Amino acid sequence: MRCALSIAGSDSVGGAGIQADIKAMSSLDVHCCAVITALTAQNTTAVEEIMPVPADMIQAQLEAVLKDVDIKAVKTGMLYSAETVGVVADILEDHEMPLILDPVMVAGVGDSLARDDLAKAIKRKLIPMCELITPNKHEAEVLSGISIRDEEDVKYACEVIGKDASSVLLKGGHMNGTSVIDYLYLSSEFTRIEYPRLERAGHGGGCTLSSFITANMAKSVDIVNSILISRKMIQQSIADMYVIGHGDKLVNPIIRQMGDKERFRILDDLDDAADALINITPEEVVPNKGVNIAFATRNAAGPEDVAAIEGKLSFHNGSMRKNGKSKFGTAGHLSYAILAAMEKNPKIRSAFNMKYSKDMVDVMEEVGLSIEYTDRKKHKNALSGELIRYAIQDAGYVPDVIVEKASNKGDNIIRIFGKNPESILEKLELIF
Ligand code: PLP
Repeated sequence: MRCALSIAGSDSVGGAGIQADIKAMSSLDVHCCAVITALTAQNTTAVEEIMPVPADMIQAQLEAVLKDVDIKAVKTGMLYSAETVGVVADILEDHEMPLILDPVMVAGVGDSLARDDLAKAIKRKLIPMCELITPNKHEAEVLSGISIRDEEDVKYACEVIGKDASSVLLKGGHMNGTSVIDYLYLSSEFTRIEYPRLERAGHGGGCTLSSFITANMAKSVDIVNSILISRKMIQQSIADMYVIGHGDKLVNPIIRQMGDKERFRILDDLDDAADALINITPEEVVPNKGVNIAFATRNAAGPEDVAAIEGKLSFHNGSMRKNGKSKFGTAGHLSYAILAAMEKNPKIRSAFNMKYSKDMVDVMEEVGLSIEYTDRKKHKNALSGELIRYAIQDAGYVPDVIVEKASNKGDNIIRIFGKNPESILEKLELIF
């Protein structure tokens, strides 16, 4: 088992700090050794108390781990004081492994997690020995002494912070704009990494990102790819944020989609298919509630294993738009339709729904798609998956198309089935 080390504070609410680090690294199959620098009493609304761990105990934890375990990469999170920085730096100096420095200063809820002497100690002792430092805007301003307002300031701050040869990932989450732009400053070159802004990142985002990077590096992925992969992963963790208290949401470091490459690929395929649908779907086949395309994992056991576009695709002022991104657990009725199809033929894992019209069914027949009908009047109380199951039983196989006749004619639905979103698009291209 690959092992990495996190040297960080404990967050009693379990969303950031060492708790986030353990979850994030574990979801990448990397074991996380944990040296605790401070206990915080906090919840999703405030940091109520901080108790730093005495320096000799931090030293004892570090020595115990390092003399026993082959640590492939190390990250530091909340170090709190110059004294702790000193202990950590003195010990890490004697070990050859990449150090990822997350210069934690302020909690997500806005309370300080640092003594006044911290920034100076980080600059003097840890920046010169780290491989990568991952400041947000505020941390970069403190470390560089530059007030950041625009791209020029960002670049200047990166150069100042990275002048001792370490690379800098200056995160754009706390800046304005519809997208989040992170700047990677490495070997005197800048790379812009841009992602759509989802919502205000919640508690634990910084810890989770630096842990993903550390875990990837522990797996011997090079630094640039570790950062790029991890950036993609944190986007998913933010999309999967959840609520446990009255304050900030928690970033979700356990990304099954990533640990499980299949889920990640499914989301990518769906987003690509949705983009293609925007170009080919005629308005008359789109019901007011919208259309959706869904795709299930190979071993899908329930709707949580079926992904679709969250918020569906619908028409607004004459053009079609995606109301969200692909996400597991958002396929609604389509997930039950797919699960029913998979019972008969496990290879049929994708489906698309559209508005019924006699003309459209005629075209489908003409191009040679197999069609089966199911009638809600005959099975009044059947759930939507059961109706699909009846149609498949009648056909003896999973047809290309199942037409569901609803009790109210206007709600008749056509569902198209296929092995994957690509095969659905091929069928749609025949009929649109
Ligand atoms: N470390 C600890 C112990 C914390 O409690 C927090 C935030 O509350 C952080 C680090 C930083 O969290 P984030 O990942 O949100 O920047």
